[in-house]
Amino acid sequence: MGTLDGVKILVDPGHGGDHPGTTHDGNIEKEINLAVGHKLANELASRGGWLYMTRSDDSDFGGTTSGEDINLRVDYVNDNYYPYNYDALVSLHVNTAYAGGIGAYSLDPDAGGASDEELYQSDLLASNISAAMGGYRTYTKNLAILRDTWGSAPKVLVEMETIDSDYIYDNYWQDNMAQKIANGIDNYFN
Ligand SMILES: [Zn+2]
Repeated sequence: MGTLDGVKILVDPGHGGDHPGTTHDGNIEKEINLAVGHKLANELASRGGWLYMTRSDDSDFGGTTSGEDINLRVDYVNDNYYPYNYDALVSLHVNTAYAGGIGAYSLDPDAGGASDEELYQSDLLASNISAAMGGYRTYTKNLAILRDTWGSAPKVLVEMETIDSDYIYDNYWQDNMAQKIANGIDNYFN
């Protein structure tokens, strides 16, 4: 018996393959997203969750530009996980060097397409994750992965750190981040 028994969570490690995401001094975003993504998936599974990942290795979705790749990623999610095959979608990212903005993001209400209830639940999941990460605030943003995926489940994007941080390749930091995000998801569902 786990606290997330039967809860279906789609983990989306951002970027991948030809699309590295943000980079700084040899730090490459796609690598951090994937490493924490695996750890998060393991952590959630250990609590009884059913895990899906949009990618489990260093691959992209076939787009020649990063924007095109994100649209193909959205198509992949819609083709494979629509309509109600996930109870939450969590996209993992690392923000641009020195940008700040660490915490969880839900869809900007002005983006359209989401019901008030979907916006509310996504914001609630974001609040739980930001709090569990260490008292960060939440943000809203118009992002394709949140806007164009069809599932009506709560959907958030997490900026885990900024890419200039020298500790993001440390196993300890990655384990800890995965655990904090899992705690936030856990708090939302319980
Ligand atoms: Zn990113």
